[in-house]
Amino acid sequence: MATAFGSNYRNGAPRSSPRVVDSSGRPLSVNHNPKSSLKSKPSGIRKSSPASLGGGSAGAAKDDGGVPGRVRVAVRLRPRNAEELVEDADFGDCVELQPELKRLKLRKNNWDTDTYEFDEVFTDSASQKRVYEVVAKPVIESVLEGYNGTVMAYGQTGTGKTYTLGNLGEEDTAARGIMVRAMEDILADVSPESDSICVSYLQLYMETLQDLLDPSNNNISIVEDPKTGDVSVLGAISVEIRDQQSFLELLRLGEAHRFAANTKLNTESSRSHAILMAHVRRSIKDSVLSSVNGSNSHVSKALKPPIVRKGKLVVVDLAGSERIDKSGSEGHTLEEAKSINLSLSALGKCINALAENNSHVPVRDSKLTRLLRDSFGGTARTSLLITIGPSPRHRGETASTIMFGQRAMKVENMLKLKEEFDYKSLSRRLEIQLDKLIAENERQQKAFKDEIERISVEAQKRISEVETKYEDALEAERLKYQKDYMESIKKLEEQLVTNQQKLSNGKINTAANDTSSHINSREPAALASALEEVANLKKLLGREASLKKAAEEEINNLKSQLSQSKLLEASANSEILKLQKMLEDESRQKEKIEGDLAALQSQLLQLSFDADETRRNLDRGGGVNGPSGLESLISQAKNQQVNDPGNGEKASMAKLFEQVGLHKILSLLEAEDADIRIHAVKVVANLAAEDESLVLGHSPMWCTEANQQKIVEAGGLKSLLILLRSSDDETVHRVAAGAIANLAMNETNQELIMVQGGIRLLSMTAANAKDPQTLRMIAGAIANLCGNDKLQTKLRGEGGIKALVGMVRCGHPDVLAQVARGIANFAKCESKASVQGMKKGRSLLIEDGALSWIVQNANNEATPIRRHIELALCHLAQHEANARDMIGGGALWELVRISRDCSRQDIRTLACQTISSSPTFQAELRRLRIEY
Ligand code: ADP
Ligand code: MG
Repeated sequence: MATAFGSNYRNGAPRSSPRVVDSSGRPLSVNHNPKSSLKSKPSGIRKSSPASLGGGSAGAAKDDGGVPGRVRVAVRLRPRNAEELVEDADFGDCVELQPELKRLKLRKNNWDTDTYEFDEVFTDSASQKRVYEVVAKPVIESVLEGYNGTVMAYGQTGTGKTYTLGNLGEEDTAARGIMVRAMEDILADVSPESDSICVSYLQLYMETLQDLLDPSNNNISIVEDPKTGDVSVLGAISVEIRDQQSFLELLRLGEAHRFAANTKLNTESSRSHAILMAHVRRSIKDSVLSSVNGSNSHVSKALKPPIVRKGKLVVVDLAGSERIDKSGSEGHTLEEAKSINLSLSALGKCINALAENNSHVPVRDSKLTRLLRDSFGGTARTSLLITIGPSPRHRGETASTIMFGQRAMKVENMLKLKEEFDYKSLSRRLEIQLDKLIAENERQQKAFKDEIERISVEAQKRISEVETKYEDALEAERLKYQKDYMESIKKLEEQLVTNQQKLSNGKINTAANDTSSHINSREPAALASALEEVANLKKLLGREASLKKAAEEEINNLKSQLSQSKLLEASANSEILKLQKMLEDESRQKEKIEGDLAALQSQLLQLSFDADETRRNLDRGGGVNGPSGLESLISQAKNQQVNDPGNGEKASMAKLFEQVGLHKILSLLEAEDADIRIHAVKVVANLAAEDESLVLGHSPMWCTEANQQKIVEAGGLKSLLILLRSSDDETVHRVAAGAIANLAMNETNQELIMVQGGIRLLSMTAANAKDPQTLRMIAGAIANLCGNDKLQTKLRGEGGIKALVGMVRCGHPDVLAQVARGIANFAKCESKASVQGMKKGRSLLIEDGALSWIVQNANNEATPIRRHIELALCHLAQHEANARDMIGGGALWELVRISRDCSRQDIRTLACQTISSSPTFQAELRRLRIEY
């Protein structure tokens, strides 16, 4: 989660919408009614949260449920101190708070801000009571219910950690800090007879844990109960607190010992962590128990052991978050510096690991993280207060403090961004998809095969069934006919034999001739019977013939049935063929996908190869001044359209820029291809804008100044100005103006811009521009030039003020803010010159007609616009020559209003002073009988 832990708006375009969610994805707010959130605690709450320093076993071992676990993070801005009031008199705070939106804007430069969202945002006027109620009270209520809770303050030294946590409120009761208020609430809620509160107060410095209630004991060890995961400190004094007075005394004693110990050891208290631990032990009353258990019989009461709830409150005033100078200039050896920083950086690492959902959280790396193991996130309710100061001089520290808070909130949008550009994960996704397709394909193939097998087995079975059936029938028919035939033959033979016998008998009779007459009389009867026989035989034959015919028909029938079943088999075969074809298609498709994947993989390989090559070249110290470096530079610039690069990319871009050579990039500003031209301008703009604090931790040579100087020396400024004239493309204008605005932060460059006719070019571009972002860049550039007192007359002479005031036509608040800034800068230079006696006559701003817009916007609802105008009015009022016009234009009333209503004390004072010191204003107020 690199730069974008929260919402991040660059160049006015929201990059991703800020989201505040807990680890289960529900929206969260610290501002909710803590009581109602506690009510929903019992049954449905998870036992161990991923956001726990204790993590797995220790968290799970605690068998009471945890409170919803995300660390809630609030940010508090300290009011300006006396030094800041003097030094930063231009009111150029590096942060702007939007408490109603719970957002904080961190200024990157004069026209860019990053926006971050927190659970709560406290302005410099937030009361100690509200801070306590929002940040700490929910934690205290949890502790009273038997949970562990932690309140921590993190921030640069001097930003109000101790004030917020440890102020005793001795001089001003409203200034009472979180520790004091927490004990008041605890004491009010516990019963002195049955409950107890025990407090220890420790200091952790260079990984040594010292008892602040007994400073001679600086060898306290941290013990963890392996079963419950509870952490305790062995040997530390634990004082039982009965009333608020005894607690205040304990805090005073601890504070005195902390001071003395640090003086003795010659250490700065800002480098040590102060840890207050309060163990609250409460007996649960019968009424509570019976309502919980639904039983109030005496017997069950007697059998039940008394229930005690134990909660632990840990309040940690962390060491200052500023980096330790490892060079030894603060008087530390390198080893000391490492050891001093160890606990705080270990805490940061644990928070990072939790934020990124790593399985390993390096809790054991430091005493602080071990001590907080059972008290941070997870089964404990945790609030983190981030304290920051307003001064732009500590912008870097403020930015890193804000990042720490953002990480602690576990916001997720960086992961999305990563995914979009992670080719490896794209290839992984494709692989997974392919695997799914392959598996599906295999399953289908198997199903087809099974189906084919089933169909062919069934067809085969049917065919053989039919075959055997008809074979049997045929055989039976054949046997039957054979039998009939044999019988008929037998009968015929018998008949034949009888006939022959008869015939031979007749012959004998005829031959003998003397045979008696009755024999002759029998002859016709025999003939008749023979004839009858023949007729019978004929009939039989006829029947045989018809039977044969029927059998033949039956056979034909069977044959046709057989051919039908053959047809069936053929159609089953064609079905099989069809399925096989489908299968082939599937495999072809699979091959195609595999081919695509292989191509992607080879692309990936090529990409990694290219990356390695570039890295190697860089390691070798460059030397690839060829087109490949240039192309990748351009492509990086292209990528920036969609992906605001992290620090690494910026650093590598700067390195590539070294390889390719600035001249080559500048020559691309005049390229034929509009696309290349735009990207080249972007590269230059980026180089001119690179912010030192963003590349901290990388090579320090890429800071803005050096880049800007190189660009200007190579003629980049001139090329950018020419682009304003020669190009018709508004994108080119916008980006070029942005680059010029960045370059215009430096005084030498401001003069160069003027000498090269920059004002006229910027004015001309402004007159034609339509996009508010183009106007914002141009206004930003002119506003920077307005801050140079040597250039005032020339700037005005070339129409700079008119151009600036002309841009208000667009009405966009970002543009108006830049116009207001320019006017304030100009007015400031004029008032300086008039104080030094170098300026006579009325303001050029008034001459050029800016006053009416100034007056109209003196109470603009956008804070940046309003602040600049208020400042401009105060500056204008310091020059008596302007007083008449200001009265005429209604500016005096605005000044009076500012002196009374402005939310900023310092501006109110300034307005009062200017009104009182102007005789013209005084006379006017007297004339109108207004008391002032
Ligand atoms: P830290 O503990 O972060 O080093 P301190 O709490 O010691 O910072 O604050 C530094 C100074 O600023 C102290 O003088 C403190 O009284 C003052 N201060 C801090 N926060 C506030 C505040 N909200 N209102 C008024 N004064 C504050
Ligand atoms: Mg402090």
